[in-house]
Amino acid sequence: MNMKRESAPGAEQAEKKNKSIAYTKELLSNASAIRYTTEFLEDNPDINPDELNGLLLDSDCDSDMTKSIVSELIETQKKVNQLTSSLDEKDKQSLLNLLVDSEDNIKNVLIGNIEIFKDFPLATVILFDNNIDYERVRKGSQGSFASVTIQSAENGNSGAELTSGKFPLILIGPINSEEDLRALLDHEKGHAKNKIVKNALKEVDKKFSWGGDYHFGDILKYVEKLEQDFDGTNLKEEYEKVLKYLLSKTKDEILAKLDSDGGVSDYMNGIAKGKLLGYDYINKLGIDKSSPLGRELNTDYLNQIQSINENITNDINKIAEAYMTFNLKRRFELFVLCLAQIPIDDWREKIVNETEFLEEANDLLEIKKIITKNISEDHYSDTVQVMVNKCQNNSSGLLNEYINDAKADLANIS
Ligand SMILES: [Zn+2]
Repeated sequence: MNMKRESAPGAEQAEKKNKSIAYTKELLSNASAIRYTTEFLEDNPDINPDELNGLLLDSDCDSDMTKSIVSELIETQKKVNQLTSSLDEKDKQSLLNLLVDSEDNIKNVLIGNIEIFKDFPLATVILFDNNIDYERVRKGSQGSFASVTIQSAENGNSGAELTSGKFPLILIGPINSEEDLRALLDHEKGHAKNKIVKNALKEVDKKFSWGGDYHFGDILKYVEKLEQDFDGTNLKEEYEKVLKYLLSKTKDEILAKLDSDGGVSDYMNGIAKGKLLGYDYINKLGIDKSSPLGRELNTDYLNQIQSINENITNDINKIAEAYMTFNLKRRFELFVLCLAQIPIDDWREKIVNETEFLEEANDLLEIKKIITKNISEDHYSDTVQVMVNKCQNNSSGLLNEYINDAKADLANIS
């Protein structure tokens, strides 16, 4: 126990609490803008941007970050609509040719079927039912999200729109079970949402940051410079940027995994042990891991991941468990979008010390403990049901009031 702290008045503590509440609310408000605008676009795919902007102006979503998120969402949806409608007009063979990005299309005779899904506003979703077709387009993983450059010389039948440019695409290979397909789609959709957050964060000032906010082309230039002249002491700035980039890729993957599985232990433990599970970002930058640069980057990267893993994985899992126990799936989705607004190397500091999430989770898990001991008592479940309903209806705000009410009620009962 720190005696100095104890003798200080509670004012400092109260100020810290207020700050934490304000920061949590701000993160949640941005997260809700992403979640609800995306949902709104899913339900109203043909809404025009002015109409949507008008709706948002009426609401209290008016921070710069929220505005930036919404304009990013609208721009993205426009692109997705443009590509989807133009692909719709193509026969499946031309669709494959377009995606393969090869001069030599004779080899790419379509074997199976290709299906386009239109219900996701943040990426065009294309499903393959044959592995050979799929592997012509994407190798190495069952699904992927990427901004893909599509070049097409021909105009769509409907007239003006050219299918040329960069478009967000989710490509999914053949998958047997509905459940696996849904999980994979959730995962790739998570990457698409991350992209929105990343771009929106770039537009606003540095209060929120994705972390490692650099253009891929720049990263490749730093790598080239480092490879030519690496002795471990010079070019520190470039080195740090490449390292941050590796961490930001890892963050993207962790968030997408949280979206689909609700937990990250296996993944985090895996990479912390050096098992990169198909996500060898150093390799993907073209860096040879046995070179001096590759060795040092690999060591520093793994050390950082290890310390992030030791410091925050348990807490994230605890938060996930608490929300899932009480069927607060939406709250968890918003929490993931809050994490997205914080650089991964700040997760521990921000989530544990500067937000309300962990306290909320601890309280919920305490309630869980009380009710599992008294599982047969009806009034326990009534109290909890009231709490769950309130939390579900207010998943974008603070939950502590409802949780504390439930705790007090349960204490009265026992
Ligand atoms: Zn992924």
